[in-house]
Amino acid sequence: MSTPIIEIKDVNKWYGEFHVLKDVCLEVAKGEKVVVCGPSGSGKSTMIRCINRLEEHQSGRIAVDGIELGDDVKAVEAVRRRVGMVFQSFNLFPHLTVLENLTLAPVKVAGVAPREAESTAMALLERVRIPEQAGKFPGQLSGGQQQRVAIARALCLKPAVMLFDEPTSALDPEMVGEVLDVMSGLAAEGMTMICVTHEMGFARAVADTMVFMDEGRIVEVAPPAQFFQSPANERTRRFLGKII
Ligand code: ADP
Ligand code: MG
Repeated sequence: MSTPIIEIKDVNKWYGEFHVLKDVCLEVAKGEKVVVCGPSGSGKSTMIRCINRLEEHQSGRIAVDGIELGDDVKAVEAVRRRVGMVFQSFNLFPHLTVLENLTLAPVKVAGVAPREAESTAMALLERVRIPEQAGKFPGQLSGGQQQRVAIARALCLKPAVMLFDEPTSALDPEMVGEVLDVMSGLAAEGMTMICVTHEMGFARAVADTMVFMDEGRIVEVAPPAQFFQSPANERTRRFLGKII
């Protein structure tokens, strides 16, 4: 098998005294789609935030595209270039237009020429099906539209991996579908993805691998068919019983 694009090996993390990630191991291959679920507080956000060093781990190894994350700032920057992240709460810049939200990092951080950044941004807005919103401010858009802008923004630096942390949890129900559609499209194009979500219809359709976390541990890793039909772990079974 080729080298995994994400390697998480024996990772432990504490918030002060609180042991939040316990011996976490996960490998993600290029093109693989991983869906992570589990009860609130089980460490899902913390785990994926460690992958682009929004959080530090205290022991074990995390590497993206062969680059190990640690105190080396250059390595952290190199990993962040390769990883796009989408949060539950959109996190768009409210004082910038949609187009400016998309061109800011390419122009200011990556040194892309403004005109090239704009044409990439417009192509991505087409891809998330809101090119007509380019000149608006985030506050003028619906939640679903804002989240699609956030996805387009994360794609602007051409990441090798996309991380989604409950991207539809803050949306009104009628807007969940349009965001999941965009994510399914990305998956179909071959993007490597880790999605924390409890949208199990999406998970069944898109995931190659399901991961269940509980109390800081990964307790089950399985293909969706097995995961949903015959979960091996009692805690997984109980959890699925509650949410499906
Ligand atoms: P999940 O995303 O699965 O709901 P999180 O990774 O957000 O879980 O949180 C895991 C646990 O760590 C929770 O008990 C949460 O309260 C705690 N936690 C999260 N962030 C912090 C922090 N910055 N400081 C202290 N505790 C935290
Ligand atoms: Mg979370």
